[in-house]
Amino acid sequence: TRSDSLVFFGASGDLARKSIFPSLYRMVKSGDLDVPVVGVAFSQWDVDDLKERARESVAASEGGIDDEEAMDRLLGLLRYVDGDYNDPSTFAVLRDELAECAAPTHYLAIPPVLFGTVVEGLRAVGLHENGRVVVEKPFGRDLASAQELDAVITQAFDQPAIFRIDHFLGKEEIMNLLYFRFANAMFEPLWNRTYIESIQVTLAEDFGVSGRGGFYESAGALRDVIQNHLFQVVALLTMDAPAYQGYGAVQSAKVNVFKAMRPLTRHDYVRGQFRGYRDEPDVAANSDVETYAAVKIHIDSWRWAGVPIYIRTGKSLAVSAGEVVVNFKRPPQALFQDALDPDQHPNRLRFRLSPVSEIGLGVRVKRPGEEFVGHEQELRLPTESPLEVEPYERLLADALRGDSALFTHEDSVEAAWRVVDAILTDHTPAIPYEPGSWGPEEAAGRLIGQDGPWLNPRVDPHPA
Ligand code: NAP
Repeated sequence: TRSDSLVFFGASGDLARKSIFPSLYRMVKSGDLDVPVVGVAFSQWDVDDLKERARESVAASEGGIDDEEAMDRLLGLLRYVDGDYNDPSTFAVLRDELAECAAPTHYLAIPPVLFGTVVEGLRAVGLHENGRVVVEKPFGRDLASAQELDAVITQAFDQPAIFRIDHFLGKEEIMNLLYFRFANAMFEPLWNRTYIESIQVTLAEDFGVSGRGGFYESAGALRDVIQNHLFQVVALLTMDAPAYQGYGAVQSAKVNVFKAMRPLTRHDYVRGQFRGYRDEPDVAANSDVETYAAVKIHIDSWRWAGVPIYIRTGKSLAVSAGEVVVNFKRPPQALFQDALDPDQHPNRLRFRLSPVSEIGLGVRVKRPGEEFVGHEQELRLPTESPLEVEPYERLLADALRGDSALFTHEDSVEAAWRVVDAILTDHTPAIPYEPGSWGPEEAAGRLIGQDGPWLNPRVDPHPA
């Protein structure tokens, strides 16, 4: 059933300003939002302050306010409740505000330590009944805390009413991984250990922690990006074909990937920290938090046994870009002279996720004139479109409709924590690296070694 209201906890926060108000505005424009939106925060605001924040936030977003009438409609939907989440009376006031609503969706865009507090507050006043809850990331900080959080939430909400956000799953480029694999039959026969040598996933940022050092100190690269976003990418890349139509089948195919992943040890992990991180505001002078992480994943399944999957991510790296590279095996016989060329690499399929969205297939073709000597050419398929829907726009609209296809389920979240749980605490100190580099040398040497080199994402989207 459709929710008849959206309760927006954290409406005065950073995420709200950067992403959520612009998405709510787009939802109004596309007709996906026409129910009251009750902002809740603790800023001693009134509804006019909230409206002002909403307007500023949309105006500052890409595209700005291009439809005044839609903007007015959004402002007309806004309500506001002020109060501390630790104070039960906040929820009593909220209940009165929702007197006309029977099926609210509660969106928790708040500090994760308060997820449980708010869910308990909702339950105490009966606002969980017929309701749904959308929980921001991170869902726990390790396996035990994820299980505890789940236990608190499931006291109030049934599993199908819990929507765990991983906004990567709402991105066009990520959805296309699933679509591309299973809408084209030609790749599937090659998609296994017989033909694939290795896989690399890179998500690099050329900036630091942008003033969010306090947040980053409690997270680090492994928790912030790998256990959730990049594991989801790997799952979509490596899962078996869903057994039936419908997203339930995709969820179970993904869980199987996490269950087959070997728990990581310190030997599969390189941690780095960019020089200068410790000078950021709210960062400890002796912080050992990793701003760079690279891991080697083993999936112990019939399909993937022996195929290494490398994932790396970092702040203050050489570029901002996301890319997946699937390296295929070389031909079994070297028939041509140029096959002896050490620089010649195997066929590759590259999914460029950002800053451009593109799929590239690297193949060798004969160079004209010379005898059997060739070079690599890439078949490139741009997949970018101005019609893209923003992740939060899609995900919040899905939540209001009750469609949980693009949200993560508890079994996936826990299975993914199980893979990284040991290395959250059992690891070597973070290795310093220069800002603007590709991270610590150890990631190239010790970790990837003979399976390398790392392939750096392309950042020249439109070469001449
Ligand atoms: P934030 O800027 O710290 O905002 C937190 C919000 O929670 C504010 O509206 C704040 O209200 C409210 N709040 C905190 N303590 C409260 C209390 N005791 N009672 C009532 N309200 C309270 O956090 P954020 O960066 O927006 O992040 C929100 C969530 O989104 C987190 O789960 C985060 O992990 C996730 N997220 C954030 C980003 C991002 O880029 N920021 C990206 C992805 C996911 P007042 O300020 O009015 O007190």
